[in-house]
Amino acid sequence: MNSDKILSWLHTENPDELKALWAMADRTRQENVGDEVHLRGLVEISNHCVRTCTYCGINRTTSVDRYRMTKDEIIDCAKQIEQFGYGTIVMQSGEDYGLTAENIADIIREIKSKTPLAVTLSLGERPIEELQRWKEAGADRYLLRFETSDPVLYRRIHPPLTAEERPDQRIQLLKQLREIGYEIGSGIMIGILGQTYASIANDLLLFQSLDLDMIGVGPYIESNRGEAASMPRESQSSILNPLQQVPATELMTYKVIALARILCPKANIPSTTALATLNKTFGRELGLSRGANIVMPNVTPVQYRVKYEIYPGKACLNECASACHGCMTKRILSIGRTLGHGKGGRKK
Ligand code: SAH
Repeated sequence: MNSDKILSWLHTENPDELKALWAMADRTRQENVGDEVHLRGLVEISNHCVRTCTYCGINRTTSVDRYRMTKDEIIDCAKQIEQFGYGTIVMQSGEDYGLTAENIADIIREIKSKTPLAVTLSLGERPIEELQRWKEAGADRYLLRFETSDPVLYRRIHPPLTAEERPDQRIQLLKQLREIGYEIGSGIMIGILGQTYASIANDLLLFQSLDLDMIGVGPYIESNRGEAASMPRESQSSILNPLQQVPATELMTYKVIALARILCPKANIPSTTALATLNKTFGRELGLSRGANIVMPNVTPVQYRVKYEIYPGKACLNECASACHGCMTKRILSIGRTLGHGKGGRKK
């Protein structure tokens, strides 16, 4: 599919065309990754962060209570994930150097020796030596969204820490992660202020050329702690002509999920929490029916979960892990899909 075709899908609101898009995405999903929905247990292990990303409610400038889970707490979560029958633990955090390379390597080794889980990391941009060390400790996959392929927009929302950082740093890091043996996942936010349709088409083509194993996309949800705090709307130079500005809507998110599935048929694609935040009733199910094949139930202990509010109104914030487990299972079965078995790595 070329850029013009992608753009025409992104713009259409014609119900018959949309129906055709959903059907094509669902068929591609069914033929390439089947009916199984794999569950990944998400553990938000720390909300400390050195960055100042304007979109994020827990960047270092925001006033939230900071926490860092202990090794024992994380191992308890891993055991719970195993008991729920999920095949993967995803450890996510801010970019937190208080989580040392050795701490993380040690936790990975412990999870690998005590459980059969695949280990996915989403700990931000770390030096390649550390990423290598975690791979050697047994990590399987790494999630690092490039957020947008537009370098000017990226710079604005994700300020560099040093003069050496380039706007394509995350993209380069993804390629290195692949070389050292990780399955790689990336993705974008949809509807960032200043984001054009043309840039979303480029993002989708980049998913394809990176040959991503996992693709996570969700609507941008304005965080009054992150963006508004550091960049008042009035003073933004990012106001686009409304014809070019991509809306941060549920519909646009389904289109990007569907197109990602068609462009990357074998990728693992989650129906994300940000999507479920826009439509708490059916967001998860609709994502799964329009290309997605993964869900990531939150397993973070409730006392920490409320402190990992990267955007306001986040779905599942006040539920415990077993409530999330029951809810997700019911949703998956209700649309005629089955629960995934095993690690659910990328199908070759
Ligand atoms: N520190 C890690 C994990 C970040 S949280 C990293 O930077 O990779 C995971 C993802 O949540 C981010 O990559 C971003 O795409 C998404 N996210 C952050 N703030 C958001 C917001 N306000 N609305 C929607 N998604 C957001």
